[in-house]
Amino acid sequence: MEAIRAFHHVIDDPLKYLEGVSLRKKAVGYCCSYTPEEVIHAAGLHPFRLFGLSPDTGVADGHLQSYCCSLVRGVLSDVLTGRLDTLSGAVFPHTCDTIQRLSDIWRMNTKFPFFADVVLPVKLDTPSAREYFEEVLAKFRADLEKGFGVSVTDASLKGSIKLYNLIRTSLRKIFELRSASPGLISGAELNKVAMGAMILERETAASMLADLADELGRLPAPSPAGRKRVMLVGSLCSQPDIHAILEKAGADAVWDDLCTGSRYFDGLVREDGDPLTAIAERYYSRIICPAKHSSLTARGENLLKSVDTHRVEGVVFLMLKFCDPHAFDYPYLKGFLDGRGVPSTLLEIEGQLPPEGQLLTRFETFVQML
Ligand code: SF4
Ligand code: SF4
Repeated sequence: MEAIRAFHHVIDDPLKYLEGVSLRKKAVGYCCSYTPEEVIHAAGLHPFRLFGLSPDTGVADGHLQSYCCSLVRGVLSDVLTGRLDTLSGAVFPHTCDTIQRLSDIWRMNTKFPFFADVVLPVKLDTPSAREYFEEVLAKFRADLEKGFGVSVTDASLKGSIKLYNLIRTSLRKIFELRSASPGLISGAELNKVAMGAMILERETAASMLADLADELGRLPAPSPAGRKRVMLVGSLCSQPDIHAILEKAGADAVWDDLCTGSRYFDGLVREDGDPLTAIAERYYSRIICPAKHSSLTARGENLLKSVDTHRVEGVVFLMLKFCDPHAFDYPYLKGFLDGRGVPSTLLEIEGQLPPEGQLLTRFETFVQML
């Protein structure tokens, strides 16, 4: 499918794509889905998601403790080896400890014209957190204005909100079409589409995603018999091969709770009223990641709701090695699943996947249990 091939092209070499974009506009890197991308886009900049995809992370080891996740290790390695030199800066929302430390190391070891920390509240369920959140967004807007000599007007913010709502709506539609009929698009292809949406210029992404959603919606829905329906839960999945191996084992990841999936497109931003208030509101109602708090049971309840909605038969916890927030979250979420009799398995991964045969055996064993 032509629309999918374009996403593949970008994901196969995101840094080359970045080089092209940065000839037209300044790009700002980010590596967490709590980044208020709408504000960056409204400043006329290109928000570029950093996935830390380079296999060699040796140079990062001189700066990071050995117990940091491969995402942060990869991102730091990319920047220290000059692979991200075409960026004009980066923004770091305060979420997990590792991203906060990455922010410090980045600030002290790079010379980009722009750098910002967005110090978000941890608790998202109190009135004072909401007030504070809006102040943080206003400061970020002012930082961008000062750093890039631009004006971020309410009108431009509203335009960006509208665009991001289109992107999220199309992504949700594509994910839901796949949930209804996994044969329509493979998990690996969908993974690349979702990652591509965070790399492509957003106007291009919005139009490509809308086309893809329309095209998939028109195709006959294949329903292969005997395959198991599973859900991926964790921080992110930037390795489409995981899907391919899972599918070889007889299961399809029909839904997820990942930053490269539902946590990215969950919740639309209100298009009326004050735009910063509206952007903040989305973060209160969106599914949280374990680096944030909204209620003691919010993540477990969301997991069970997704299990029911998408007729999930088993859950694969996809854990980046040394990812503390998700490691702390795991027993609590597993408890929710156990209470409902939903089988689960935990897969710990690093930048490089284990050999395919090993992973296939793990998945086949799990699929046979379902
Ligand atoms: S899991 Fe949480 S902290 Fe980690 S990248 Fe995603 S949103 Fe950010
Ligand atoms: S939440 Fe986990 S995977 Fe994401 S940056 Fe933090 S430690 Fe790494």
